[in-house]
Amino acid sequence: MADIFDRYGLTRLINVSGKETANGAAQVPPEVLDAVMGVLPQAVDILELQAAASGVIARVTGGEAGFVAGCVAAGICMSVAGCMTGPDMVRVERLPDANGMKNEVLLLKGHNVTYGGRIDQQIALTGARVVEVGTATDVALYQLRGAIGPNTAAAVYVLSHHAVQADMIDLATFCSVCHEAGVPVIVDAANEYDWPGMFAKGADIVIFSAHKAPRAPTAGVVAGREALVRAALFNERGIGRPMKCGKEGIVGAMAALELWARTDFAAERSENRKKLELAERLLSNQRGMSVAIEPDVVDQPVDRLAIRIDAKEAGVSAREVANRLAAGTPKIVIYPLRADLGKLLLDTRNVDEKQLAIVCERICEILRTPSGDLGNTGPRRADRAVEALMRWPHQGRGAKR
Ligand SMILES: *Cc1c(COP(=O)(O)O)cnc(C)c1O
Repeated sequence: MADIFDRYGLTRLINVSGKETANGAAQVPPEVLDAVMGVLPQAVDILELQAAASGVIARVTGGEAGFVAGCVAAGICMSVAGCMTGPDMVRVERLPDANGMKNEVLLLKGHNVTYGGRIDQQIALTGARVVEVGTATDVALYQLRGAIGPNTAAAVYVLSHHAVQADMIDLATFCSVCHEAGVPVIVDAANEYDWPGMFAKGADIVIFSAHKAPRAPTAGVVAGREALVRAALFNERGIGRPMKCGKEGIVGAMAALELWARTDFAAERSENRKKLELAERLLSNQRGMSVAIEPDVVDQPVDRLAIRIDAKEAGVSAREVANRLAAGTPKIVIYPLRADLGKLLLDTRNVDEKQLAIVCERICEILRTPSGDLGNTGPRRADRAVEALMRWPHQGRGAKR
């Protein structure tokens, strides 16, 4: 097969950041590819396929039912819509005009995150009004109780490293307060692992990313209480129409979930640890930099290498290191969420040892040639993303200008 990268002049990318959608998400394994290839040339009844997917999703996630949406953001939007419309097709066809429907959706202010798009905007797309609860850094139960009213259609809870971690309300307590008032809880758990655990804590709908941890093609898995899942799916005949998943995405998610159910996560974790230990060795003894293997902040069975850079000592700041890695060839994307605190995280799940050695060598090379940027004054991640957008379609380094 012709190499897509050469054919279209695409930038070679090594992703040591995670499984972000914008970096092509997960690398899809052969079992899942086979399933996708099997369905692509066929005609298939999509509603029947979604019913089969519901069976697989229920078995693997512990929800009563499920379907596959175009992505996680789509699944969140369709789930919120479903809580507003129920199974009433007249309402489905009326959104985003929410007249006559409950139209308020609660969201902890510390959960009002962006994942490349703002979650409050994706909720508001349905016609709902987002009601933020608490402040950016803390929230009390009386505030959650006080925010619930006769127009509350649903509450959205974000389980992610993107969300504020301290002084929020834990999922079980959040669900029990919402359930006292009959309000369903929709959980954005895009990149999480413990699916049955979220239902045990009371989640009514959970949305998982098919293309992150489970390594499927791009899709969002919606799982949970049957009545709510059905109402969410019905919105495919309404505002969810541009959010639907095709046969390849549905089958890909099903195959990836079946593979997931057979995965030995402890074995995977210790395999990954070997790569982290290699990186730890390759990055040791650098002036101004220290490294340590760290477990995930939200308790996923995943470890990463924390790289701490003392800018004065190293002559270069953490953000500058991330920016220079991204500007080189191949382009290297490292997890930069704490870069302004001097910390980068290296996620080795997507790379082999050869690619890892390239990454470590590039980091050492940057430290050997410090540019004197000590103040984290380089462009911020969000600004870089928008600058790239403004250059489109001329941003590709291999592309003709
Ligand atoms: C990745 C992510 C999303 C968005 O997923 P898409 O499938 O790209 O829409 C939403 N929420 C969280 C917490 C994420 O990590």
